[in-house]
Amino acid sequence: MRRKLIAGNWKMNGSLAANAALLNGIKAELAGQSVACGVAVCAPAPYLAQCQSELSGTTVNWGAQDLSVHESGAYTGEVSGAMLRDFGCVYVIVGHSERRTYHAESEQLVAQKTVRALQCGLTPIVCVGESLSEREAGQTDVVIGRQIGAVLAAIESADLAKIVIAYEPVWAIGTGKTATPEMAQQVHQALRVRLREKNSQAAALVQILYGGSMKPDNAKDLLAMPDIDGGLIGGASLKAEDFLAIVRAA
Ligand code: PEP
Repeated sequence: MRRKLIAGNWKMNGSLAANAALLNGIKAELAGQSVACGVAVCAPAPYLAQCQSELSGTTVNWGAQDLSVHESGAYTGEVSGAMLRDFGCVYVIVGHSERRTYHAESEQLVAQKTVRALQCGLTPIVCVGESLSEREAGQTDVVIGRQIGAVLAAIESADLAKIVIAYEPVWAIGTGKTATPEMAQQVHQALRVRLREKNSQAAALVQILYGGSMKPDNAKDLLAMPDIDGGLIGGASLKAEDFLAIVRAA
């Protein structure tokens, strides 16, 4: 039985004051409760120290939104996996569609970043997803197969159980449009079939999250699907009450 995971992706939002209010709201609700699902927030790099000081000793984990493919050295502006570990990160998002689109991250680079995250002891949340035109052209399976295929080719079979995958249809991110539970389940199931080719035992353990306008009012139905093991939450992770409502749905 896979434990569900609800992970917030704050993107480039927040401030010390706003984060403190958000994290205090989350902590106040979850303190002293046994939470059935895993909970995490993925913050902009400058706020990871704040997450570490606010969330240490709680049931909420934290992570980053990207990492450098390099180990260390002359890479101005980059943040290494070891640095993220220094600040207590458990997770790092890899290959978010906004990075693939705005920073031209290739499938190969995403695969290499996944490997780097694993080497650093981080759990990569590997994002895959098709654009609207790709879906309309009937290319969803091909695109997702290519994206996940690059990652599977790069990692050791024994490491499969150490990654999290997020299916995020690009047309659903930040648009208010959500894949129906059935549409999402179909892709999640296809992803799991693909994972089995790499390591059938581990494939049953990998958490496959859905992301794309998951909100309190649609979370329950999405999370009820057999291969949807949680959510990667953008907009709704910025409001404690919305994020917590999704945690409760899980
Ligand atoms: C995301 O960016 O990972 C995401 C799922 O965003 P939203 O929930 O706002 O669609």
